[in-house]
Formats: sequence, C-alpha cells, structure tokens
Amino acid sequence: MTPAGTADRAVPEAPATPVAAAEPMLWSGWGDPARAADLPEPVRKLLQDILGVRAPEAPPVNLEEVRLPAATLPAAVLAELESVLGAGNVRSGDEARVRHTRGKSTPDLMRMRAGDGSDAPDAVLLPGSHDEVLELLRICAAHRVAVVPFGGGTSVVGGLTPAREGHAGVVALDLARLNRLVSVDAESMVAELEPGLRGPQAEELLAAHELTLGHFPQSFEYATLGGFAAARSSGQASAGYGRFDDMVVGMTVATPRGTLDLGRAPKSAAGPDLRQVILGSEGAFGVITSLRLRVRRAPAVRIYEGWRFDSFAAGRAALRRLAQDGPLPTVLRLSDETETMIGLAKPGELGGMSSGAGCLVIAGYEGDPQEAAERRERAAAVLAGLGGTCLGAEPGESWAHGRYSAPYLRDSLLAAGATVETLETAGFWSALPRLYDAVRLALHGALGSPLVMCHISHVYGAGASLYFTVVTAQSEDPLAQWEAAKRSVNEAIVAAGGTISHHHGVGRDHRDAYAAEIGELGVEILRGIKERLDPEGVLNPGVLIP
Ligand SMILES: Cc1cc2nc3c(=O)[nH]c(=O)nc-3n(C[C@H](O)[C@H](O)[C@H](O)COP(=O)(O)OP(=O)(O)OC[C@H]3O[C@@H](n4cnc5c(N)ncnc54)[C@H](O)[C@@H]3O)c2cc1C
Repeated sequence: MTPAGTADRAVPEAPATPVAAAEPMLWSGWGDPARAADLPEPVRKLLQDILGVRAPEAPPVNLEEVRLPAATLPAAVLAELESVLGAGNVRSGDEARVRHTRGKSTPDLMRMRAGDGSDAPDAVLLPGSHDEVLELLRICAAHRVAVVPFGGGTSVVGGLTPAREGHAGVVALDLARLNRLVSVDAESMVAELEPGLRGPQAEELLAAHELTLGHFPQSFEYATLGGFAAARSSGQASAGYGRFDDMVVGMTVATPRGTLDLGRAPKSAAGPDLRQVILGSEGAFGVITSLRLRVRRAPAVRIYEGWRFDSFAAGRAALRRLAQDGPLPTVLRLSDETETMIGLAKPGELGGMSSGAGCLVIAGYEGDPQEAAERRERAAAVLAGLGGTCLGAEPGESWAHGRYSAPYLRDSLLAAGATVETLETAGFWSALPRLYDAVRLALHGALGSPLVMCHISHVYGAGASLYFTVVTAQSEDPLAQWEAAKRSVNEAIVAAGGTISHHHGVGRDHRDAYAAEIGELGVEILRGIKERLDPEGVLNPGVLIP
C-alpha cells in the first residue's frame, strides 16, 4: 500500500480482524466474491458487435496496491477516541480504510479498480451504543474531525465521500456493532431495531416472531436499516409494504448537540414532523442509533407471475389503474421494450432475442393464502381487461430467483470494458412520458448509442418512479465520460419536472440538482438545520447540503 503525500502517519496500524461481523463485501465490486460470474461468450461478443466494447488494457489493482492518502488524524485525538471504544474498536489499518472508501456506484468501483483510494478515512470507529456515538461526536466536533456514518457502504450517490478540506482528519463511523432487535411491541406491530443490522439479519431476527419488514431493495443483502432510513430507500415490494420511510414510526438520533428522540405516535399533528427531517438526511444532521419500525406478519405465501403488454404505454396505463383503483399487488414492476428484450433472452441465447417481446410486467402477491389468491384474481382481471396477457408463473419465479444477482453482472461487464450504471427519478403520471423521453435523449446525446433500459417498480396513486440501466462502451477516460452523461441527465430530469431521486438519495452526485429542485429558500432551511445540529460542520461534510 502506498500512501500518497509525505506527511508521517499519525495513525498506527490496527489488528487485521475483519471490520463487520457479516461476510465482508468485495472491496472493489459487489457482494460475495464467491458469487462473481464470468460473462458468457455470446454476451461478450454481443457487447463487442453492438456497442463496440473492448477489453480494458489495465487489469484492476489488488487491495495492497490501492493508493491511500496520508492519515492526518492527530495521534492525541486517536487516543481519545480509543479511550471511548477500546483500541480493538478503532481500526486504522490499510484494509479497514480501503473497505470504508466511498460506496458502490459505478464511478466508485472504477476508482477503486484503478487503485484510487484518495477518499479513504484515516480510521474506522466501531461504537457499541448510543452513548458511545454521542461521545465520539463530541470529541470529533471539538477537534474538527469529519465523521462519515457508515452502514452497508452501498450508497450509489457519493453519500460516503466527504470533503476533507478544513478538517483535522476523517473517520468512518461503522454502525455494524449496533445490531440488535431491541424489542417487539406485538400489539402495535412495531419493532425497535438498531441501525447496523443488514437486511437479512433484520429479517432473520423478525422471522423468529413471525414478522417481516417487507423491505427488499436490490442491495438488501448488504445494506443496513440505518442506511435505508438515512437515504429514504425503497424496496422491490414497495407496492405492498411501502417505502422504508413509511415504516419508520420513531427514531433515536445522536448529534453533536445531543440526543433527538422522535416519534410518540404513528402520526401526529404536533407541528412539522421532525422524523421527516432526519429521514433522508444522509448522515449530515446526526447518526441514527435506533429505529422504531412498523412491521407486518410474515407472509404465508408468495406468488409471482408475468404479464405481457404490447407497449410501455399500455403497461403504464395498467399499473396506473392498479395504483389508483386497486387492488395493489405486493410487487408490481413494468419493463420497457428494451429491458424486456434483454431480460427475457437467456444469457447464452442473446443472439436470438426478438424485438416483438412487448413489455413485461411482474406482479407478486404476498400474504395470507386466501387473501393473496383473491387479490391476485381481482388484479389479474384488471390487467387482462387493459390488454395484458398472462405469461404464468415462470417469469415471476425467474425474476424472484435473480432479484439480487444484477450487481454481480455489473462487475463482469466493467471487467469486460463496458460502463454499466443505473439512475432513477420519479414524477406524476402525467409527466412520466416526458421524463422518460428526456432521460433517454440526454443519455443518447452524451454517450452516442448506449443501451438504455427502463422499468417502473414503485407506484403511487399520483405517480411512479422510472429506473434506468445504461450500458455503453468505455471511452479512454470512462470516469469523465460518465460524469458528463450524469450531468446531462441530472439537468434533463430537473428540466422535465422530475425529482432528482426517488430512492437513491442526494449524496454529492445530486447536490446541485437537489438545490435546483428545492430552490434557494429550501437550501437556506437545510443549512439552518445543519448549523443548529452540527455547528462545527463535522457530519458528512459536502454530502447532501448544497
Ligand atoms: C447494487 C445496488 C442496488 C441498490 N438497490 C437499491 C434499491 O433497490 N432500493 C434502494 O432504495 N436503494 C438501492 N441501492 C442504494 C443503497 O443500497 C441504498 O441507498 C441504501 O439505503 C444504503 O444503505 P447502506 O446501509 O448501505 O448505507 P450507506 O451506503 O453506508 O450510507 C448511505 C448514506 O446514509 C448515511 N448513513 C448510513 N447509516 C447511517 C446512520 N445510522 N445514521 C445516519 N446516517 C447514516 C451515510 O453517511 C450515507 O450518506 C442500491 C445500491 C447498490 C449498490
């Protein structure tokens, strides 16, 4: 490991034990390295023939080759932090630093694969209680040390990339040790859980009480409850269980100014709801140390099936009808023509894909067997009445089986020389066609002839989200290439009246567009809250607040 810069290391090496209790995430890619899959040869050939993708010249670096910045955290501050947590819960070894560098957007992965560790924290802190978090924040504020709350590290918007300037050092506050199910109020169907629990850990603890959160984003296996709340996540079954912010009925938050305890009732007329100020605050206002979450009974059945519509417009009309008049499936998603075509073809048979595939809808029903069956029957009548053809269980089961696999494919495509990235927005139903066209136009304008796929997977009475996946050949400077495309899309979303994010959040990547979305007065309100809660500006500097 080669530290950039010449300053002496203020931070001593820490024990080489893994940081999080859960299986460590691949540091330069996604998930469990054992599940990485090579691209089938036909796919590789298709990428070459259609998109002009060429294998990159330089292979990715090894972890030991990542260039880290010299740690600037003064030794005396480190000692103070250790006195709170014990030396074992303060990690400043290279591996811990690398593993807490940035998130998992495609540019994040490209930088890591190129050995650029310039955003690494100086040290990783592992608090075990709310009081310890409070104490750490007090020390960091006193010494102007930047603090990055770190959940699963799956941010795709630069939410874990703080501005170092003006700070004595940077620490990542990894919440992995805050991983308990604290209590279950079965009468109210509310469970108190700690923020460091990853999706599967939380579900396992709740399953022992025959309960579920029903929050299954694609990052479910690695992302944490704290991250879901802090970034306003939305899961693949949001039609049935709601977004994560719908589930939060209370929370405890540690700030440099003290503790906030919010939520005495599911809803309240006692002024503006401060829970909403913390939800989506991405570590810039405080550290969520506990969450009171609405839970549901674990479903006895899960039925997923596929439907075909002639066009994206026809499918969209059917989803809108279900969202507005019911009945709502638990999972409801519609792929556009391109995503349907690519998704339906089996990877080994991509050459044979047909353009007449139409548009695929996945409808899923979870719950009590009789209720789910009845809901399915009524929803099926609506879908059929609006031109849908039922494709049976196979497409639904196949979607459910592969729902967490796509991020592994991204790693393989990156290695093959393609840039693959996702982006998302939401708008009112009446604005969706314009928004869809605007994003596609911006991507084509910036990237030439990329492959652009889209789906709708979160629906509301008044509107829905649009989620795009883009694949293009990497240019000589793929980071600059993607940054230009992203800028162009952000501008297009703002101009077309969509929100800059439906569920990924703001981070650093959407900060300017967020400012355009909320206006100058909105920005002033955010800054005012930030100044009150974090007067020294140590919490995730540069993230969220324009
Ligand atoms: C492959 C992939 C698929 C994804 N799919 C989805 C999806 O389907 N739906 C979706 O909504 N998102 C998705 N995401 C985005 C990401 O998983 C979510 O934003 C998730 O909520 C982040 O959780 P995390 O625990 O990883 O948080 P992190 O990435 O660690 O942190 C996210 C932000 O929250 C802050 N933060 C974390 N914990 C706390 C805390 N306890 N208190 C205060 N601030 C905190 C961090 O400082 C950071 O700004 C995906 C990401 C990837 C890489």
